[in-house]
Amino acid sequence: MSQVLVLAEHQQGKLKSNVAELLAAAAQLGEPAAVLVRQTGTGEGLPADLANLGAATVYVADIDDADSLLVTPQIAALESAVSASGGVSAVLVGNSIDSRETAARLAVRIGAALLNDVVGLETTTEGVIATQQAFGGAYTVRSVAARGIPVISLRPNAGELTTPAVEAKVIPLTVSIGATATARISDRHERGTVSTRPALQAADIVVSGGRGLGSAQNFVLVEQLADALGAAVGASRAAVDAGFCTQNMQVGQTGITVSPNLYLAVGISGAIQHRAGMQNSKTIVAVNNDATAPIFEVADFGVVGDIFTVVPQLIEAVSAR
Ligand code: FAD
Repeated sequence: MSQVLVLAEHQQGKLKSNVAELLAAAAQLGEPAAVLVRQTGTGEGLPADLANLGAATVYVADIDDADSLLVTPQIAALESAVSASGGVSAVLVGNSIDSRETAARLAVRIGAALLNDVVGLETTTEGVIATQQAFGGAYTVRSVAARGIPVISLRPNAGELTTPAVEAKVIPLTVSIGATATARISDRHERGTVSTRPALQAADIVVSGGRGLGSAQNFVLVEQLADALGAAVGASRAAVDAGFCTQNMQVGQTGITVSPNLYLAVGISGAIQHRAGMQNSKTIVAVNNDATAPIFEVADFGVVGDIFTVVPQLIEAVSAR
C-alpha cells in the first residue's frame, strides 16, 4: 500500500485540530504518513501524538528558524518526504491560507496536480477522486488528477475524525532551505483581543447572527449562545456591513466557508451567497420570524419565532445541561 502524506500543522506544542481528520482521510486512501516540521529543539512529543492519531510513519524535519520562515520549510519538507518515501499516492494538507499556499507551491515544484477546498475523497481504479463544490455549492465536481501526485487541500469537517493509534516509524528528513527563504517573519501581532472561542473555519459548532439581530448590542445574544455551546461565532455579510461584528466572522461566498457538525443561523435570511459558505454543515438549525425565509430550505430544524424570545430560552436550556 502506498503512503499518503499529511502535513501535520502544529502550534505551541499541540497539533492543530484538523490533523486527526487529515490522517483519517489518508487512511482511506492508503497508508497515512505525517510530515512534521519543527523548530529545532521543540515539539518533542509531536511524533507520539501523530502515532496516536494513526500515522504509520512520521517524517520529521528539524529546521532552525522554522517558525519564522513562512511556509518555505513545509514545502521543502513535503518535497523531501515525497522523495524519501519512494512514491506516494497523494499529499493532503488543511485548508488554511498557509496550507493552500504550501499545496500550490509544492504542486508546482514536483509537477503535481492541485485540488483545492476538497470536501470528499475516494480511491478508484482511476486513482484518487476528489469532490469539490462549485458556484456556491450549486454544483458538485468530481476530479481526478490527470498526471502527477494529487496535492489536495481538504476542507475541515469533510470526513471521518479518527484512526486507531499505531506504532509509528520516525524518519528524520534532511531539508535544505537555501536561498528559497527570501521572506521572514520579523514580528507577530494579534489583532484585537485574542478569542478563546474555537477557530471559525474548523469549529465543530458555529452560531451565526444576521441583520435580524438589529444592533451590535443585540449581537451579544449570538455570542452568549455560542459560549454556552462552546461554539465559534459567525455572521452574515449584512451583520458585518452593519457593524454588528468584525469582517473575519463573515460566512459565505466572500467570507469563510464552514462545514461544522452543527450550524445555527440566527436572524439570517439564507441568501445564496450566505448559503455558499455554510450549506455543507452536517446539521443546520435556523431561527427566523419569517416562515418563508430561504434559510429554511436548507435547515434540518427550524424555529419560526422571534430571536429575542427564542435565543434567551435556548441559552438557558443549554446552560442548564
Ligand atoms: P437579511 O437578508 O436582511 O435577513 C435578515 C433576516 O432576519 C430576515 O430573514 C428576517 O426575517 C430575520 N429577522 C428579522 N428580525 C427578526 C427577529 N426579531 N427574529 C427572528 N428573525 C428576524 N452574504 C453573506 O452572508 N456572506 C457572503 O459572503 C456574501 N457575499 C456576497 C457577495 C456578493 C457578490 C453579493 C452581491 C452579496 C453577498 N452577500 C453575502 C450578501 C447576501 O446577498 C445577503 O444580502 C446577506 O447574506 C443578507 O444577510 P442577512 O441574512 O443577515 O440579512
